[in-house]
Amino acid sequence: MSENDCIFCKIVRGEIESEVVHDEEGVLAFKDISRKAPVHVLVVPKEHVSSLAEVGRLSEAVAKRLFEVAQMVAEKTGVAESGYAFRINDGPDAGQEVFHLHVHVMGGKRLGMP
Ligand code: AMP
Ligand code: ZN
Repeated sequence: MSENDCIFCKIVRGEIESEVVHDEEGVLAFKDISRKAPVHVLVVPKEHVSSLAEVGRLSEAVAKRLFEVAQMVAEKTGVAESGYAFRINDGPDAGQEVFHLHVHVMGGKRLGMP
């Protein structure tokens, strides 16, 4: 999957619409189009990295910001106190569908495992 046809790269470039929750240098957070919880936001590095196996290609600053922006999104969407899941699906058994690294921030209801 090249950056040209990657759906999240297109969202980052503004070629596909999204409901942006937070935008900063290096990291974008937008609402998941098919939400699985009352709050369901995706946090992505703007640089194309296909999965956790490639996370080392990100700068340390951007990798750290994925965590910090997730917490910021939880505060902004009102679930920081009630709690939320920070989830990365990697590979087939986890059901990864989009091969641009992204963190799901989900909350607003009781979430089970897995
Ligand atoms: P996964 O790769 O399994 O971690 O999940 C990919 C997620 O991306 C799914 O929850 C989709 O609903 C979501 N998704 C796919 N296309 C879009 C889009 N255009 N805008 C927002 N979310 C999307
Ligand atoms: Zn991409």
